[in-house]
Amino acid sequence: MKLSKKTLEQRLDHVYDVIIVGGGAGGLSAAIYLQRYRLSCLVIEKGRGRSFWMQELQNYLGLPPGTPGRTMLQQGQNHFLSLNGDYLMGFVEEVQDEGETFAVKVKVGKQDSIHPVFRSKYVIAASGIIDHLPKLDDMQNVFDYAGHNLHVCMICDGWEMADKKCGLFVGSEGAINTAFVLNWFTPYITVFTQGLFEVSDEMREKLKSHGYPLIETPLKRFVGHDHEMTGVELADGRTIELQTGLVAMGSHYYNAYLKGIELDWKGGNLLTDDMCRTSHPRIFALGDLKEGLNQVSIAVADGTLAATAIWRDIRRSSPPRLWEE
Ligand code: FAD
Ligand code: FAD
Ligand code: FAD
Repeated sequence: MKLSKKTLEQRLDHVYDVIIVGGGAGGLSAAIYLQRYRLSCLVIEKGRGRSFWMQELQNYLGLPPGTPGRTMLQQGQNHFLSLNGDYLMGFVEEVQDEGETFAVKVKVGKQDSIHPVFRSKYVIAASGIIDHLPKLDDMQNVFDYAGHNLHVCMICDGWEMADKKCGLFVGSEGAINTAFVLNWFTPYITVFTQGLFEVSDEMREKLKSHGYPLIETPLKRFVGHDHEMTGVELADGRTIELQTGLVAMGSHYYNAYLKGIELDWKGGNLLTDDMCRTSHPRIFALGDLKEGLNQVSIAVADGTLAATAIWRDIRRSSPPRLWEE
């Protein structure tokens, strides 16, 4: 059932088989499999995650291209609830390893918050990441286009950018190298650094040799209408026309709640085995938070693998069911 501040108390004595942190593509996939394996499972979702901002899912087999992430989330949540899983809107602040169980501390309600602690045998970290966006005084101006034709994922939306005039928005010299991959899709690339860092002479030469303009002036705002960005206005008053954009400014990793537990990381990503098990035998990691490709199809498949590995563990340590009258 959908738990709320009022009803969650009845679950505080229950030890779930699995608590899933994050109800995005990966978390909901794992949750559906787990319930179907007849394991008890709680999904905790803060809201406004990466798949929520995915305006159009373009490459997932079986769903029409352009399906909004929100539709996928809603359908996944309904599916999970129909299998009698528990779902709670809340922010996971901390996971503690108590030996046999985990204590999962949650903040529920942005105002008048309460901080219940739920317990489980296994934890699935499916909390994902969120893309850094250019920081302007008026963030609403950025949100008007981000996820529409101001993209954040080349694998997802390279096709949408093909042969268009594309702004590449970066926050580090390393990220400028994105241009030399993006040019598979389009060569009409203008790189915007907003003056956030020094560009080396070597990189300037490389951009020049490809014919890609480099603009270091800070941005004033994106211009466009109805979620379609048509260019940028610079702080010096110039306007640069664009037909699309790609933001490559890195990501925030939602992993703070795991910091008290020793785990193997690669940067902000968790390292796992083939079944998505981390270096802790009862913590699994999926999707964008796990090392690998950041795609819905991968997150969904990861959910299947993690759920199946957990079922296998629990089944093998359970007594057989006998046919007794
Ligand atoms: P998410 O779907 O991000 O789920 C993680 C969830 O955890 C979030 O809902 C978040 O709110 C929640 N969470 C985080 N921290 C906490 C916490 N402490 N407590 C509780 N909950 C928490 N992929 C494609 O395959 N095709 C596309 O066309 C495509 N287009 C995209 C377009 C945009 C604009 C964006 C932003 C992404 C796109 N992606 C696309 C990528 C896709 O969204 C991700 O790869 C996918 O959502 C990863 O699934 P996930 O379950 O790992 O993470
Ligand atoms: P969070 O990390 O979600 O939360 C901050 C704190 O709030 C947490 O530490 C926790 O203490 C508390 N909290 C969060 N959720 C809960 C909960 N459920 N219960 C209790 N406490 C909670 N942003 C917009 O506003 N509008 C947009 O249109 C928009 N479009 C975007 C498009 C794209 C492509 C991308 C990548 C991002 C977009 N964003 C947009 C930015 C995005 O909203 C934020 O980075 C993301 O939603 C995180 O929100 P937050 O700042 O509340 O941080
Ligand atoms: P397939 O989907 O089998 O595709 C392989 C294709 O290759 C076939 O279409 C075949 O005709 C073709 N082919 C083979 N040899 C040649 C050749 N020499 N030349 C040309 N073509 C060739 N999975 C789930 O996740 N959930 C379920 O609920 C579920 N239910 C199922 C129910 C049934 C009755 C069955 C039979 C399977 C079910 N599965 C389910 C399993 C699922 O169908 C497979 O895991 C999935 O289809 C595997 O995809 P695939 O692309 O590897 O193989």
